[in-house]
Amino acid sequence: MFSPGPVQEYLQHFFSHHPEAGERQKRSAGDDWTTGLCDKLKKMQHFFGLPPSGELTQETLAVMRKPRCGLSDVEHFEGTTRWKKKTLSYRIVRSNLPFSAAKVYKVFKSAWQLWSNVIPVRFHKRNRKEADIIISFHQTDHKDGTPFDGKGGILAHAFFPGPGIGGDVHFDAEEDWSINSTGFSLFAVAAHEFGHALGLAHSSDLGAVMYPAYNFSPNYELRLSLSDVKHIQRLYGICPDFDPPPRTPDKCHSDLSFDAVTELQQEVLYFKDRFMWRKHPQFDEIGMTMISSLWSDSVPASLDAVYQNVEKNLMVFFKGHQYWVVRGHDLEKGFPRNISDFGFPSRVKSVDAALHFRDKRYTVFFTGQECWKYDEQHRAMHNSPSLLERQWPGVEAPIDAAVFYDGFVHFFKGNLHFQFDNNSKSLVSVSTVNEVLECNKILTKR
Ligand SMILES: [Zn+2]
Ligand SMILES: [Zn+2]
Repeated sequence: MFSPGPVQEYLQHFFSHHPEAGERQKRSAGDDWTTGLCDKLKKMQHFFGLPPSGELTQETLAVMRKPRCGLSDVEHFEGTTRWKKKTLSYRIVRSNLPFSAAKVYKVFKSAWQLWSNVIPVRFHKRNRKEADIIISFHQTDHKDGTPFDGKGGILAHAFFPGPGIGGDVHFDAEEDWSINSTGFSLFAVAAHEFGHALGLAHSSDLGAVMYPAYNFSPNYELRLSLSDVKHIQRLYGICPDFDPPPRTPDKCHSDLSFDAVTELQQEVLYFKDRFMWRKHPQFDEIGMTMISSLWSDSVPASLDAVYQNVEKNLMVFFKGHQYWVVRGHDLEKGFPRNISDFGFPSRVKSVDAALHFRDKRYTVFFTGQECWKYDEQHRAMHNSPSLLERQWPGVEAPIDAAVFYDGFVHFFKGNLHFQFDNNSKSLVSVSTVNEVLECNKILTKR
């Protein structure tokens, strides 16, 4: 558990809470939460997309414990601090390197490239002392007023453009840096810190490279998000013919659709790309998180279908011709496996959606116009497929996702949500996906 000390430190460091002179004497420790610190906490919760309750919830503490960048989340300098030239030099200090100098150079070169792909700025490595940007690895105190903290916690920090230390990037040498999949990806952290070295602040866009907490997943190729690109181009201009960046899914975007939807205990999870929204019956706010926040790197992004087998306490994920079975947070041995295990004929190459009925112990798989009934108890597919339109009249095939909760079957196709009553075999309502995520409600509430 966090005691108020580290929480106060966190807020002070990242949300610049500076107790006023005499504040400590005036108030007892218990009063702190009703004063400035509480406002900072709300600010922090708002930044990370948590319900801004001002209370130290488990979720809030979990975000605070995440490894992250050492810079503050409330800097406002964008548009003022930038390099004035179009060619920048960098130098890599050769002490404390986690790998060979050649490997480290290769990683940094590709991290710079992420940025130079979208802005008309070029980066050149220099071996001599003079360079605009000095990149180095340090342990604990390294004489810049912001000591590193050993393994975990703060991973790196950087200085905004300027002379001297300006633009410099420091990595915590004590981290378990990696090039592949274990430990912290040097490439992902470098891409983020280089953004600061170019003048970017933190972004609360969960999909952005400039998001302050480490959320890189080796299952997903690191790319700048639309917000990263917009911000850097505002500073340096546009590089012609850059690839359009991915937009982080927005629950209020009218074109929103889902990849998959499932129950998870009392919650309903809505999947999109490498993100998901979690809807809990007891909470108003529907927060977006990374899929990897629940299952680390066990399951891929951009899923086709997901269902929870309550009886066996398993989650089953589908993508392409493969499926993954996860118990708790861990992938079962031998997975992913081929979906032919379920008894699909070889012509079925993927599934669109999976609909599990816990009471009846069966799952329906959707493939185009067809649906297949799978007996979970006997692990057998029922005879031949039937037509979706015959089983669920009014629902348009092919669908994106399906789930059973609150006594209804819910189908998702594009930006539409079909609610179906299985007892009367009738369509109850058709609404937009935004309404399911209570986007409208939240917009009018505040
Ligand atoms: Zn940062
Ligand atoms: Zn430093």
